[in-house]
Amino acid sequence: MARLRQLIAGNWKMNGLRKSLDELRAIKAGIADARCDVAICPPATLLAEAAWTLNDGNLLFGGQDCAIDASGAHTGDISAEMVADAGGKLVIVGHSERRTDHGETDALVRAKAEAAWRAGLLAILCIGETKAQRESDQTLDVLEQQLWGSVPDKADAANLVIAYEPVWAIGTGLTASSDDIIAAHAHIRARLTNRFGPEAAGIRIQYGGSVKPGNAREILALPNVDGALVGGASLKAADFLGIIAGTP
Ligand code: PEP
Repeated sequence: MARLRQLIAGNWKMNGLRKSLDELRAIKAGIADARCDVAICPPATLLAEAAWTLNDGNLLFGGQDCAIDASGAHTGDISAEMVADAGGKLVIVGHSERRTDHGETDALVRAKAEAAWRAGLLAILCIGETKAQRESDQTLDVLEQQLWGSVPDKADAANLVIAYEPVWAIGTGLTASSDDIIAAHAHIRARLTNRFGPEAAGIRIQYGGSVKPGNAREILALPNVDGALVGGASLKAADFLGIIAGTP
């Protein structure tokens, strides 16, 4: 089967001030001929300015999280509708840092994906095992449980991207081996196919966890790898562009 068009997405986490918009300008200038879709999820404070000044189709912007309600008395939260209103086209839900730091459950992540769709956003939904789960050989079971628990029923190729992010590989400099990535992504594809039938063939599955210019080419060439979710290496245009250059 032909490869899906890959999505390389940068997650800036709690990094970036207004001067960082220069990095976004450099990223935009560097992707005119990119073979993939490219997105950056900056902090909420930069989203509107980035999207309004730099969003012209070849560079997409998104949120790092969204609330489940459209509006209301939820101090500090940002709704999917607000992300869309700010010019966002996508939102990350269920990142392991949110699952860990904010106690987000699969049920909440599922509701956030539904909120994203209500607002017309693409949801990048993160799943992944901890080090302890990998060491006790539970990886594939954990991925299956997270998929069942956090992916809503109305998923399709246009509204969902799964990001497989082994928790122990995020921000640590450790990456999963090619064999482990192949096994995890094949498992995710199979479980999605069980649930969504032929539609699952078009749902992109990103790998995330210490992707860098030096390992991107090898990772992005693996079967069922349809892009990458990139944290640290998305903060500098040169590194992020180096990853984008590695798309097959
Ligand atoms: C992430 O935050 O989703 C991530 C993969 O981070 P890093 O690339 O820094 O490991």
